[in-house]
Amino acid sequence: MILILKSNATDDQIDHVLERVEALGLQHHLSRGTYRTIVGIIGDEEKLREEPLRAIPGVAKVVPVLPPFKLASRDAHPEPSVVDVSGVKIGGGNLGMIAGPCSVEDRDRMFRIAESVSKSGANLMRGGAFKPRTSPYAFQGLGEAGLQLLREVGDEFSMPVVTEVTDPRLVELVSQYADMLQVGARNMQNFALLTEVGKSNRPVLLKRGMSATINDLLMCAEYILSQGNANVVLCERGIKSFDSATRNLFDVAAVPAIHAISHLPIIVDPSHATGRPDLIPSCALAGLAAGADGVHVEVHDCPEVAKSDGPQALLPDQYDELARQMKSLAKLLGKTISPLPERKA
Ligand code: PEP
Ligand code: MN
Repeated sequence: MILILKSNATDDQIDHVLERVEALGLQHHLSRGTYRTIVGIIGDEEKLREEPLRAIPGVAKVVPVLPPFKLASRDAHPEPSVVDVSGVKIGGGNLGMIAGPCSVEDRDRMFRIAESVSKSGANLMRGGAFKPRTSPYAFQGLGEAGLQLLREVGDEFSMPVVTEVTDPRLVELVSQYADMLQVGARNMQNFALLTEVGKSNRPVLLKRGMSATINDLLMCAEYILSQGNANVVLCERGIKSFDSATRNLFDVAAVPAIHAISHLPIIVDPSHATGRPDLIPSCALAGLAAGADGVHVEVHDCPEVAKSDGPQALLPDQYDELARQMKSLAKLLGKTISPLPERKA
């Protein structure tokens, strides 16, 4: 930690700053420049985090040396993490290809979509059973019946399944059916939910909140990691912007920016990021080219009757074409699309 003192800090104030540092059992290194005095603090930064150092008279700025997300940071874990979702690996050169409808709808539709995306090469099936909707009058999901359906198709096509959990009280129920728990953008900072999924033994797909900074996202991952769940995959799904040309603003730079400071895998979701089927393929490929550890795409066989997010769904044939391109790019990048686990007897 470095303390930058005010240009008019008095000698008494400087002495007081040094006393405060010593009182915490830490060492200091004082550097008096022509215009500014700087105090370097040597020792465990954790001891300082709780201290309101900025409130000490004469202190202008407090500059931490280590990031506040200790467990998510690359300092703590230089190698990229590989998250295993019931046999499908994400991270460290392995790509997670998540596909499926926004919401779990009827049984036949789920089977049709799962059959087609698995043939195309998707290795994780998605579908929301508990939907966080802007309007309380919109379709809220099928609940447990939806979880059962998702599990059924997952087993049929030997695809691990990922679905959203919206409430800490539902973590146990959703974990009974899902291989991976999704925490959606609207719930990224639901700290009670993060704590609860952190206690579960299921891998977590943590989506970036639509107004969240990269630091915010990593601090939320830290909530999960600090509860003992090391299997966290991040997801860039677009952030709010002034431009209504796309549903959100696809922040592709977040991918290498996060890789630079964190070991956690990060995938991209061009469906929610753009909201436009015509832009999804190019943004999916851009995400992979930027180093994403996977791609999450919404697919529906009849978007005009979809119960949620129909306008942004790719048709199965469009997904198939995109998957072909993603496979070629993966090869070029030296990445592996994790194969589906062996079918259970
Ligand atoms: C979803 O995956 O269907 C979803 C609601 O995503 P997000 O939380 O990113 O909006
Ligand atoms: Mn959706």
